[in-house]
Amino acid sequence: MAKKKTRYVCTNCGSVSSRWLGRCPQCGEWNTMTEETVEPEAPKAAQSMARSGPASQAASLADIAMEDMARMETGIGELDRVLGGGIVPGALILLSGDPGIGKSTLVL
Ligand SMILES: [Zn+2]
Repeated sequence: MAKKKTRYVCTNCGSVSSRWLGRCPQCGEWNTMTEETVEPEAPKAAQSMARSGPASQAASLADIAMEDMARMETGIGELDRVLGGGIVPGALILLSGDPGIGKSTLVL
């Protein structure tokens, strides 16, 4: 969430400043700057990514039809089991672990 911004507006002439000033630089009046809260506008990127279409509904796992995807077996039984039967085409797999644990060896 974007941070709210404050600005100071002169009640005499409408001059705007980002910080409080005792004397308005525009009209020269004293103690006329009043604080206003400015709602930040959503960035243009966020507006362009606004959701469209019907809202998503929560569903029970039992109600979700499992698609049988073609999987590429690695030949390493334990790895295939962890991956749910093998690597799904187009899948991204994050492999992490302590240094020296064998991540590179496993990938090779
Ligand atoms: Zn002023």
